[in-house]
Amino acid sequence: MINRTAFVTGASRGIGLACAQALAAAGCRVVLAARDTAKLEEASAAIPGSSWVRIDLASSDSIEDAFRNAGKVDILVNNAGITRDGLAMRMKKEAWEEVLATNLTGSFLAIQKVLPGMVKERWGRIINVSSIVGQAGNPGQANYVASKAGLIGLTKSLAQELGSRNITVNAVAPGFIETDMTGSLPQELKDSMLGRIPLKRFGKAEEVAAAVRFLASEEAAYISGHVLNVSGGMYM
Ligand code: NAP
Repeated sequence: MINRTAFVTGASRGIGLACAQALAAAGCRVVLAARDTAKLEEASAAIPGSSWVRIDLASSDSIEDAFRNAGKVDILVNNAGITRDGLAMRMKKEAWEEVLATNLTGSFLAIQKVLPGMVKERWGRIINVSSIVGQAGNPGQANYVASKAGLIGLTKSLAQELGSRNITVNAVAPGFIETDMTGSLPQELKDSMLGRIPLKRFGKAEEVAAAVRFLASEEAAYISGHVLNVSGGMYM
């Protein structure tokens, strides 16, 4: 992926950082984006040829600023995401809106920023990090699941809109991956999850990054509108 620039959101840690590392190892110039600038600076220093920019996906002004100086982006990985779990009956509107704004609207606005350049180049890769719960549903996560299901709908619609411009749009749907997001979950819940995973272990951020790197590559040129589950068989 020489001469390609990849913009990865949520690259300060977890799956996004692993994606940035994998894409850089494949030859991309990588732009790491998230809110925590200290973490970004540290991560970028360890990735040759990379740079970083602050972005808050919940703010359209911040998205505007972040892409203003990003230059041409060939590969966009919409990975940043948050959870604000709770039962729907008691869920505050703020918790609903914050999750939808960050996970779904932020991804859409980022896509809008990179599309003019991709259309002009007649080459582009958009990879949205969804989740298996976006397909299966999950009690206590109505907001998160709606955002992740929304990303799948967005992926499929854009794949149809943009195919004629040689831009592919795909989603990666992780299962249970060991990161900060899952680190604080109660052990009881983790044990019951493990029982539902045919491969009998949790996934690693690098294993999701490998799928993202593949979808960004030339080898994946004829794959678009696909949802690639990286879940150890937890959802099929
Ligand atoms: P994580 O460790 O919590 O990392 C989340 C990343 O998103 C961080 O880099 C964070 O950076 C960034 N982020 C959060 N809010 C942001 C905002 N408003 N603007 C910009 N960046 C923001 O989570 P992860 O496990 O790596 O998850 C990455 C993606 O995979 C998420 O979309 C998640 O929903 C999805 N996923 C994860 C799992 C799993 O089991 N871990 C399963 C399915 C799907 P800052 O805090 O520095 O902004």
